[in-house]
Amino acid sequence: MESSEIRSQLDERLALIQADLVQMMATVATRVGEVTSAMLEGDIETADRLIAGDDEVDLLSLRVEEGCVETLIREQPVASDLRFVVAAIHMNSDIERSGDLVANIAKAVGRLQGAHPDHHVRDLVARMSSEAQTLLRRASESFVTRDAELAASIDELDDLLDDLHYRYIQHVIADARRGDLDPQQSLQLALVGRFYERIGDHAENIGERVRYIVDGWLPEAQAAERAQARLEAGELKPHRGLAVIDSIAEERRIDAIRRDFVANVSHELKTPVGAMSLLAETLVGETEPADRDRLSDMLQREAKRVEDIIDDLLELTRLEEGESETEKIKVSKIVAKSVDKVRTFADGMHVQLVVTGDSGEEKVKVDRRAVVRALTNLIDNAVRYSEADQQVTVAVEVLEHVVAISIKDDGVGIPRAELERVFERFYRVDRARSRETGGTGLGLAIVRHVAENHGGRVLVESKPGDGSTFTIELPRL
Ligand code: ADP
Repeated sequence: MESSEIRSQLDERLALIQADLVQMMATVATRVGEVTSAMLEGDIETADRLIAGDDEVDLLSLRVEEGCVETLIREQPVASDLRFVVAAIHMNSDIERSGDLVANIAKAVGRLQGAHPDHHVRDLVARMSSEAQTLLRRASESFVTRDAELAASIDELDDLLDDLHYRYIQHVIADARRGDLDPQQSLQLALVGRFYERIGDHAENIGERVRYIVDGWLPEAQAAERAQARLEAGELKPHRGLAVIDSIAEERRIDAIRRDFVANVSHELKTPVGAMSLLAETLVGETEPADRDRLSDMLQREAKRVEDIIDDLLELTRLEEGESETEKIKVSKIVAKSVDKVRTFADGMHVQLVVTGDSGEEKVKVDRRAVVRALTNLIDNAVRYSEADQQVTVAVEVLEHVVAISIKDDGVGIPRAELERVFERFYRVDRARSRETGGTGLGLAIVRHVAENHGGRVLVESKPGDGSTFTIELPRL
């Protein structure tokens, strides 16, 4: 065969792969729109059709896979063709997974029957959907035109989708709290939001593959260097040049934390909600009064856990939004109020609460509710992780620049390696114990937020077996 003939055969094969990929992206984007309408209208028939219709994308995907393999085996691809094939293999799996996510959303439609999300939630679903479609279409366009800059701009758009998703989750939680949604429906809605968000991630990946086809592999440092060079040559507009590239790593980190957080919330809620549905089922068939009482007690306990988690999540959201009203208030008053709140619990656990130190008339300017909540969390933990007949001491000290309130216990303590991590959301040293005693895993995250919102900080010292001391420092007036 003439070499020009081989070349044109290869080109034909590559063109076919490209056409299939483009068609897949268009199909998935359309399906995203359809599944969203089905969801907003509660149209189960359409949803079922969409679940079955996923085959169409899967078939195309198989063809792309075959095409790529054939190219590698039978043709003599040169470097740039190889890059195309490698990128195509990855893009193919990103698009196929996006198709699966559409089917997942469709499955949720059935499970959401009778749910009454408020207009914010509905509106955000529509907006996440339209954003996800735009992302897919832009990925496709950048692929067809080999426009690396257009492909790079997908990252910024995806941030928008992430923000929408973040707000969406907050509204879902608010709905659940008001009782507009039952726990199972909240969970389904939370998952749906996550599916849209993941479609955006896949589009972002596709954008990266396009950049790989155009520019080759660009490790981050090298990319920054090239951007700098182009910036200096006047090729890039400064506002979306280097600064954007520099901040990509940080944004990715934040996104990853956010994603983890949402996954954690779903997971945390899933356990008690699962237990509740099981308990409720058992309760229905139970005739023995004593057993019914026992089961409904357990049911109430699980419901309380869901409520606690949602409460803490709302508190965190409030803190993150920085909503607060400050007032000047005596330190002794805040401490007394916090200790009072934990008193009954401490008595029940046979732990003695002692307050030492005298802050006299010293006042601080704080969001009283938030600080009381933070102190209550710390005292509550100290009691919870103590043994019966031990003592918890709350010590107040007025230092040069700060007022320090320390909560000391002689309980189980925290291993050194985990000292920093206990402030992370949902992090627990001993999962079983925290569950048993009704912890949400969010208490210390709230404490740190409150301290930092007030320009203060929280410190911890601890030794396993000896106990822990947590100290909140608040700036003096
Ligand atoms: P939880 O609701 O599970 O107590 P927190 O955020 O309040 O969640 O605390 C996170 C983890 O830190 C706890 O699960 C526990 O392992 C550890 N911890 C917090 N306070 C103490 C303490 N006073 N003594 C020992 N461990 C503690």
